[in-house]
Amino acid sequence: LFVSLEGIDGSGKSTQAKLLADALKRDGHEVVLTREPGGSPGAEEIRALVLQGDPDRWSAETEILLFTAARRDHMERLILPALEAGKIVVCDRFADSTRVYQGLSRGDLRRLVDQLHDLMIGREPDLTVLIDMEPDAGLARAKGRQGAEERFEDFGLSLQERMRAGYLDMAQAAPDRFRVIDGGRDIETVAGDVHAAVAAAIP
Ligand code: C5P
Repeated sequence: LFVSLEGIDGSGKSTQAKLLADALKRDGHEVVLTREPGGSPGAEEIRALVLQGDPDRWSAETEILLFTAARRDHMERLILPALEAGKIVVCDRFADSTRVYQGLSRGDLRRLVDQLHDLMIGREPDLTVLIDMEPDAGLARAKGRQGAEERFEDFGLSLQERMRAGYLDMAQAAPDRFRVIDGGRDIETVAGDVHAAVAAAIP
């Protein structure tokens, strides 16, 4: 089973991904916890190229190409082998992040993201948990974090609102794949709902 967690900055998805992986291990499953951008050595190098340094270094189109290349490497080296071995893969962000961040933040590039995805990735997670959250709460939470590679200079509140709406639109368009969970509650309550949603999807 291939599970992704999605949400705007500060929605708590990385914390929830870790708690989910722990809960699934306690249930007796073999679990691989990974993240994007990154997740394999090559993809982590691409992550650093994009997220560290001058935010205007790459055009939006080049950024989409770089993240698609990173995702391809992550799929080949980590995700597909783990799925073939019968493991549950829990991925903190996947292609929906590129659809929303690169697809909506600097013009409308959704079509380009989707075309490259079809060409080079060709697979969606079996289940995507969207941790939905008010952007101001998320931003406050994320800004309090130390050492993160954040891009909030570019991503103001109104942009986070557009990205939240973009996520909710995708969830509405693909209800079989998405589970939307209210991330504005305490961590344990959210974690319980995330675990229940994923456990129900295990064959
Ligand atoms: O999810 P995480 O905190 O690791 O993301 C790191 C940074 O990368 C965040 O500031 C996020 O906004 C940004 N990001 C991005 N495009 C993506 C995924 C994440 O700009 N496709």
